[in-house]
Amino acid sequence: MVALAEQFDVVVVGGGPGGYAAALHGALAGLQIAVVEKERVGGTCLHRGCIPAKEFLETATVHRTVVGAGDFGVLTDAPTLDFARSQARKQEVVDRLWKGLTGLLKKRKITVVNGVGTLGPGRTVRVDDGTELVGRHVILASGSVPRSIPGFDPDGRLVMTSDDVLSLERLPASAVVIGAGAIGCEFASMMRDLGTEVTILEVLPKILPGCDQDVTDVVLRSFNKRAIAVRTGVAVTGHTPEAGGAGTTVHFGDDEHLTVEAVVVSVGRRPLSDSLGLAGTGVEVDGRGYIVVDPYMRTGEPDVFAVGDVVATPALAHVGFAEGVLAIDQIVGRAVVPVDYAKVPWCIYCHPEVAFAGHSEQSAIEAGFDVVTRKDGFVGNGRAIIVGETEGLVKVICEKLPDGTGGRILGVHMVGPWVTEQLGQGYLALNWEATAAEAAHFIQPHPTMSENFGETVLALTGRGIHLG
Ligand SMILES: Cc1cc2nc3c(=O)[nH]c(=O)nc-3n(C[C@H](O)[C@H](O)[C@H](O)COP(=O)(O)OP(=O)(O)OC[C@H]3O[C@@H](n4cnc5c(N)ncnc54)[C@H](O)[C@@H]3O)c2cc1C
Repeated sequence: MVALAEQFDVVVVGGGPGGYAAALHGALAGLQIAVVEKERVGGTCLHRGCIPAKEFLETATVHRTVVGAGDFGVLTDAPTLDFARSQARKQEVVDRLWKGLTGLLKKRKITVVNGVGTLGPGRTVRVDDGTELVGRHVILASGSVPRSIPGFDPDGRLVMTSDDVLSLERLPASAVVIGAGAIGCEFASMMRDLGTEVTILEVLPKILPGCDQDVTDVVLRSFNKRAIAVRTGVAVTGHTPEAGGAGTTVHFGDDEHLTVEAVVVSVGRRPLSDSLGLAGTGVEVDGRGYIVVDPYMRTGEPDVFAVGDVVATPALAHVGFAEGVLAIDQIVGRAVVPVDYAKVPWCIYCHPEVAFAGHSEQSAIEAGFDVVTRKDGFVGNGRAIIVGETEGLVKVICEKLPDGTGGRILGVHMVGPWVTEQLGQGYLALNWEATAAEAAHFIQPHPTMSENFGETVLALTGRGIHLG
C-alpha cells in the first residue's frame, strides 16, 4: 500500500535564513509548516558563513586589542594564538545558536524533515528518504555554495573555499586571497591580524566593488598599513603545487607569480538550484542557475515561491529573511510591499568595518541625481579617540536643494569602528525617505560614535556644529 503524502500549509525546502524565517513567521501566523533540510538548520549563515566568519573576526579584534593594550597602561606580554581554541570557541557559538534555532522550530511545532528535497508537479516535495510532502504552498530556499574558478579546484588544503577556511585547525603562514569582495576582505583582514602574510588578487580595478570610493580608500589605506598586499586589475591564471605539497605558486597578471602556503578562493557564490528537481513544474531557472521570481518572490509555478541566495537578489542573510517573511505574508493574505533591494543594509566586518545603504556618490550621479555630500571623520570623535580607533568616516549623499543644502537622503556610507552597529539610523532615515534636515532634528547621545552621523546630516543643512 502506498503511504499517503503528508499535507502542510507550507513546505519549505532549505533551512537557512530564508527558509527558517519563513517557517517561524508562518508558524506564528498559525500555518502548518514542514522544513526539509539536508544538513543542519541554520544554513550557510549559521554553519559556514556570517556567524563563524564574524566569530573569527572577533578573535582578530581581541588579538589587536591585546597588542594595543600597552597604550592604555595595561601591560601584557605579546599575545600568542592558539587557533585550535579559537576554532573550538567558534564552534561553541555556532552550536549554541543552532540549539536555540532547533528549539524554536520545535516550540512552534514546525516539522523538520532531514534529507534532500525535490519539487515535482502538484507542489509535491519528495525527500530522498522516501517521505512525500504536499504543500498548499511551497517555498524554495536552497541557498548557494562557493563558486570556483578554472585552474583552482578546491582541495581544502592548498586551495580553500570559505567553507574550508572556517574549519581550519591552524592558519597558514602565508596566503593569497583571490577576490576582494566582502568575504575576501573579511578573510584577508582576519588572517593578517592573526599573523598570516596575505596578498589579495582582484581582477576588477578596485576592492569592495559597490562601496563608495571614500570608504574603499580608507579600507585600502588600513590594509596597506597592516601589510596586506592588494593587487587590483590582475587575473589569476593557475597555480603550481610545490613538490612535497607544503605550498603552491600562484600565477597571475603579466607573468607574475607568488609562492604561498595556501590559496583562498573567494570569487562569489552560485545558487544551489540544480538539486531541486523541478521537472514538470513551471519553476524557471535562468542561465546562471537562479530561480526566476517576480518582486513578490513568486515563481512560474502557482503557489510556489523562492527566496534567499537561490534567487538573483543581494546574497545577504537578512535579505533572505525579509523575502521569506514576504512570501508568508502573502500566503496569509496580508498587504505586502516588495523588498526595496536598492536600499537594503550592507555590512562588511573586516577591520576597519564597512556599512552602507543606498546610493554611493558615484551611483547617485550615474542615476542622474544632482547631489551634495558631506563626510565626517572619526578622527575628531570623542568616543573613537577614547577607544583608540579613529580611522574612518561617515558620508551621507543627498539630493541637492536649490540653495545647495542637502534634501532627500540617497545614501549613507560608513567605515570605521563599530559602524556595522551604527548604520541602523542611517538605514531608517534613507528608507523613511527623510531629508537631511529631518534626520538632523534628532539628537545623538554623547559621547558616541553615532554623533558623526548626526553631525554629517546637520552639516548638510548648513548648520554643522563642528563641520563648517
Ligand atoms: C563566509 C561567509 C560570510 C557571510 N557573511 C555574511 C554576513 O555577514 N551577513 C550576511 O547578511 N550574509 C553573509 N553571508 C551570506 C549568507 O550566509 C547567505 O546570504 C545566507 O545564508 C543565504 O540564506 P539562504 O537561506 O538563502 O541559504 P543558505 O543559508 O545557503 O541555506 C540553504 C539551506 O538549504 C539546504 N538545502 C539546499 N538544497 C536542499 C535540498 N534540495 N533539500 C534540502 N535542503 C537543501 C542547505 O543545506 C542549507 O542549509 C556570508 C556568506 C559566507 C559564505
